[in-house]
Amino acid sequence: MSAILQDTLDALASPEARIEQVRRIAREIAGPAAAAVDRDGRFPIEAVMALKDAGLLSARVAPRLGGHGSSIAELGAMCEALGQRCASAAMVFAMHQVQVACLVRHGSTPYFADCLDRLVREQRLIASVTSEAGVGGSVRTSISPIERDASSGECRLRKEGTVVSYADAADDFLVTVRRSAEAAAGDQALVLLDKRQCGMERLGTWDAMGMRGTCSPGYTVSARFDAAQIVPAPFAEINAQTMVPWAHILWGSAWLGIATDAVARARAFVRDTGRRLGGTPPTAARLSAVSAKLQLMRVQVRDWAHRYDAMCATADAGAQELGSVACAIQLNHLKLAASELVAEICTDALRITGTSGYRNDSPYSIARHLRDAHSAALMIGNERIHASNGALHLAYRDEAL
Ligand SMILES: Cc1cc2nc3c(=O)[nH]c(=O)nc-3n(C[C@H](O)[C@H](O)[C@H](O)COP(=O)(O)OP(=O)(O)OC[C@H]3O[C@@H](n4cnc5c(N)ncnc54)[C@H](O)[C@@H]3O)c2cc1C
Repeated sequence: MSAILQDTLDALASPEARIEQVRRIAREIAGPAAAAVDRDGRFPIEAVMALKDAGLLSARVAPRLGGHGSSIAELGAMCEALGQRCASAAMVFAMHQVQVACLVRHGSTPYFADCLDRLVREQRLIASVTSEAGVGGSVRTSISPIERDASSGECRLRKEGTVVSYADAADDFLVTVRRSAEAAAGDQALVLLDKRQCGMERLGTWDAMGMRGTCSPGYTVSARFDAAQIVPAPFAEINAQTMVPWAHILWGSAWLGIATDAVARARAFVRDTGRRLGGTPPTAARLSAVSAKLQLMRVQVRDWAHRYDAMCATADAGAQELGSVACAIQLNHLKLAASELVAEICTDALRITGTSGYRNDSPYSIARHLRDAHSAALMIGNERIHASNGALHLAYRDEAL
């Protein structure tokens, strides 16, 4: 381990110190760049570089491998802090951490131990290719298969990902595919590809309403790779135990950051109006109402983060509980509630701030918050989640959900 890396690890030895470091990055680096990131639809490079310099892209990796072994509650607090200043930076950090969590928990072979070592040393940014033309946002369905050369054993894949965030800035991709050409659409595997071994064909642009800095056009990814690059666990298990909980909790944390800043702006507006008028303005009652919604959202997201960490501390690392129907339903509820609440809270904040919030050039502006917030219901479409969750509800009768 290099002396610089060791110094960084020592300075950020506690979760509190690491969260404080991210708050500083959010305040001093991500926030000042956020308007340009949004306006130009560019990657939040300065925030991600600062997170890399702090060694935080490998925060989840175990200390014995050079990481911090950060909990999801700690990483959620970081996503929340970033989300208050730049939602795109927060979402990039959240999506990357979801990929890292999958490798940490399910990459049990020497090959993946080496990958985690490289992640620590090189602070590699990992993007995800789960979306696919023909299946939309159905993560548990793949069309493209792994094809194997019978004589050499070499594997190949070619996948048309409809939405691939920060592909240009990424070093690696985690790609879902059908396990073989004969496998059913739901018999999937997760493959870690180094971008240098991939052919990347860009399929369009990302001139989107919000989350513009995630830079998420479609790409066709093709690669030849070694079978060792296939994560050993079945994707169904990875998805239930790690990808879904981590995505729903960390995305929810980033959205919580957006909502928190929208309410902070509404509060500033109400206070400033009160000072001017010399009394409590009529909008104060609406501020009370939106603050109650924010508190509800905060409790839900943070409670799930702590619950997940507690599950991981059990003898089977939560495998049984995370594989249960009850857990799947409740994690879906978290995503549905947080994604609806963030848009609702931003809309309420806009009603409080009025035209001051509607303007792009006002200190009370809610415009970017609202545009970013509307991506939440689309990141795995809520209608799609309601449809699968509805089917789960039929199979589950516990009323104490
Ligand atoms: C900011 C952002 C970043 C993203 N980053 C990535 C990334 O890095 N990697 C990646 O792989 N993907 C990424 N995605 C993709 C995302 O997670 C979804 O997979 C994708 O947005 C789904 O695309 P879709 O809405 O076009 O398709 P669909 O999910 O097919 O939805 C299309 C429409 O059909 C509706 N619908 C779908 N199923 C049902 C149903 N059963 N009942 C009723 N209505 C239904 C949906 O509500 C929606 O209105 C990102 C998305 C966003 C918004």
